[in-house]
Amino acid sequence: MPFASAYGKLSDESLQRIPTAGADFDIHNGKLLAPILIPRVPGTPGSRAVQQHFVRFFQEQLPDWEIEWHNSSAKTPATGDELIPFANLIFRRDPPWAASGDVARLTLAAHYDTLYHPEGFIGATDSAAPCAMLMHVARSIDRALTDKWAAMQASGEAGSGLEEERGVQIMLLDGEEAWVKWSATDSLYGSRALAEAWEATPYEPLSTFSNPLGAISLFVLLDLLGARSPNVPSYFQTTHWAYQRMASLENRMRKLKLLSTQGTDSFLPESGKAMTQFARGFVEDDHVPFMARGVEILHVIPHPFPSVWHTMADTAGNLDIPTVDDWAKIVTAFTAEWMELDGLMPKIPAQHEIRESAKTEL
Ligand SMILES: [Zn+2]
Repeated sequence: MPFASAYGKLSDESLQRIPTAGADFDIHNGKLLAPILIPRVPGTPGSRAVQQHFVRFFQEQLPDWEIEWHNSSAKTPATGDELIPFANLIFRRDPPWAASGDVARLTLAAHYDTLYHPEGFIGATDSAAPCAMLMHVARSIDRALTDKWAAMQASGEAGSGLEEERGVQIMLLDGEEAWVKWSATDSLYGSRALAEAWEATPYEPLSTFSNPLGAISLFVLLDLLGARSPNVPSYFQTTHWAYQRMASLENRMRKLKLLSTQGTDSFLPESGKAMTQFARGFVEDDHVPFMARGVEILHVIPHPFPSVWHTMADTAGNLDIPTVDDWAKIVTAFTAEWMELDGLMPKIPAQHEIRESAKTEL
């Protein structure tokens, strides 16, 4: 399988360069997280405000990322004959020379919608924090991707056909939640529509992949993250190797004292799980419509769920921000390793250098 092809480890020095989100994860005025901490029921003004937040962030700060809206609509058991709009947002970076049907994409996903009931539900772990984490991942690898691809073009390595073309995409999905009671038809509105649409959208003949679903090298789904002391199992035997990669990065970052939740247990403790220990059961979530079509899945969701799950207590104030920041760093490291950005991560400026540049900006 090409998706399992070997790739090099990130060096300690690259791990040290994985940036923290810092003040941007402040729950009151943090640039990434705070605007998401509002009710985001599909079709409501809150949902539209958060969509605009995502789009504006990429347009203004990450203009090299292609933005794709995927719109659908459906009736729900709570809203009668009214058609509710669902909008998935996909942000994508491919090597600039590559045809879109030839790029294998690491796909990082989270849902941004919130429950219809209870009214006023915030869903801080479900999944505002995971969305903010993915925004941080995108901005943290952006420069290194640009530099890597520019160097490949300069050396004539680009498009040689010797190596698989690698891209990355971030999916912020709508309509994950059930409106009345979880069922095959009352849940996963956005992801079901997207998987179906992509399966039916063929690439040009002679492309490496037949459609955008086939081009997903690994679908990494973050959900219910942001509460203290998460325990994330390895759910799938076929992607246990990817779980081990992420766990190894976490453990190395802990040893190097690069995480804020020092002294706590590993978030990803199941690297040593034996192949015979994998159960058939799994948590139903946005990966299901993709998995049903053969996409490989890494599901990053804790078991047990956070104690605040689907209650009015899933609020900003109940997030554990050091945990949110550590997840963002772990997933950034995983993405940087996958995209082979070792040696390309920009140096993090020291505190005094930050103060100096702030002065010159004034
Ligand atoms: Zn939920």
